Amino acid sequence: MHETCDKTYSELSSAAIGDSELHAAIRMVQNGMGKGAQAMWRDEITPEHRRLAKEARLRTLNNLDAVLATLSEKIRARGGHVYFAATAEDARNYCLEVARKHNVRLAVKGKSMTSAEIGMDPLLEENGVEVVETDLGEYIIQLAGEAPSHIIAPCIHMNRKRIGKLFQEKLGIPYSEDPPTLTKAARKALREKLLSADMGISGCNIACAETGHVCLVSNEGNIRMCTTMPKVHVALMGMERVTATLAEHDMLLRLLTRGASAQKVSTYVSFIGGPRQPGETDGPEEFHLVVIDNGRMKMLADPRFREVLSCIRCGGCLNICPVYGRIGGHAYKGTYCGPIGAVLMPLLDGVNKHADLCRGESLCGACKDICPVHNDLPRMLSELRYMLAYGDEDWGVEPVDGSEACAFKAWGAAMSSRTAYDLLVKAGRIVQVPFVKNGVLGKGVGPLAKWTATRDFPPIAKKTFAERWKTDHSKRLNGADNE
Ligand code: SF4
Repeated sequence: MHETCDKTYSELSSAAIGDSELHAAIRMVQNGMGKGAQAMWRDEITPEHRRLAKEARLRTLNNLDAVLATLSEKIRARGGHVYFAATAEDARNYCLEVARKHNVRLAVKGKSMTSAEIGMDPLLEENGVEVVETDLGEYIIQLAGEAPSHIIAPCIHMNRKRIGKLFQEKLGIPYSEDPPTLTKAARKALREKLLSADMGISGCNIACAETGHVCLVSNEGNIRMCTTMPKVHVALMGMERVTATLAEHDMLLRLLTRGASAQKVSTYVSFIGGPRQPGETDGPEEFHLVVIDNGRMKMLADPRFREVLSCIRCGGCLNICPVYGRIGGHAYKGTYCGPIGAVLMPLLDGVNKHADLCRGESLCGACKDICPVHNDLPRMLSELRYMLAYGDEDWGVEPVDGSEACAFKAWGAAMSSRTAYDLLVKAGRIVQVPFVKNGVLGKGVGPLAKWTATRDFPPIAKKTFAERWKTDHSKRLNGADNE
């Protein structure tokens, strides 16, 4: 997993909250792509379409073994290799083996979050393979030595001045902040790499079992070059990124590009089903599809989290999330950020390790509304919080700070008894007195201190609603009697 630094989620978030340049950059994406996707859901795509897409995703997940078997059969029939990797280590070792077999010195990459998830680049580099990102955003952050901060706009946190200085330093060109000049410089540098690479590495947006193809979308044309020019192509695919039929594939592809960037279709859509066939003029001599589990089987087996595998990684939930809008992607400290990252990272890499992520989201529900397949991330975030409060043996989760669970247990007991509730309210009114300032409980003690450190808490009212109802209602009744 790519981790940005050893600072905590709260340190990174606090720093990001004061970063107005970051907010301006994210606002541009959220206003453009986020609002664009919302408009498309309103004007072009019916709710029925999204409901059917979700059903299709769940149907495929329920038959995943059979669907993957069909996909691999079709690809092998065309001379491709399919490898099922149980762990991240298996997947990267397989890629290294392929690179060694072909004596690869230079590998070019199309954008792939899965390769970051399995930590593939460092292993190839340690073994003498130069790895070059060819997606412009990924190339920029690779030059800067940083991690992506958005699923589909990885260098959103960098403005053109920073990129200008970076290109001046790394590519040796005169300083410029003119986007076409910078793009031209990147294209020149990348073209040389693409022409001399021995291996191309890509991800997979959605594969189709019926036709036996992996499908890749891009707006830059780099993926097409990565997958056709080098003599070997390795495609990395999370095991859930497949559909059973071409009709379902078509339905999801329409949603993917709209949800991601509010485009009806990406500029380039590539369908790859194996190595170059006799009579074909381009394509790799060897094609490998690596189907990666790395914890997905466990999610599939758990009814609470199976749904997260229906995600098609459009990044739409980042484009609407108020939390992501304030803290950006690096605070999440993982390959996947935003609301989807807050669910995926704990499940992939340890719930306790990534506890802050699922506790940091607001549960406002905007991510579910914008998601092309209505992934219920707020529900899954609540499930993760429950695991953190009470522990979970299956996922090896240790309860974190039992005070929250105790407080809710006590609250539950008080709420189920009228007498206990009334007593608690009366006691609370007395205890709160020294802590109320300017009409709010600004500084709590004990476990409440953590809550009030970042939030104001309303004090218990002089009269609760039930007390007011009792007196006002009896006054009304007496008044009615008197009339
Ligand atoms: S959860 Fe939904 S909106 Fe978020 S990346 Fe996945 S498919 Fe897109």
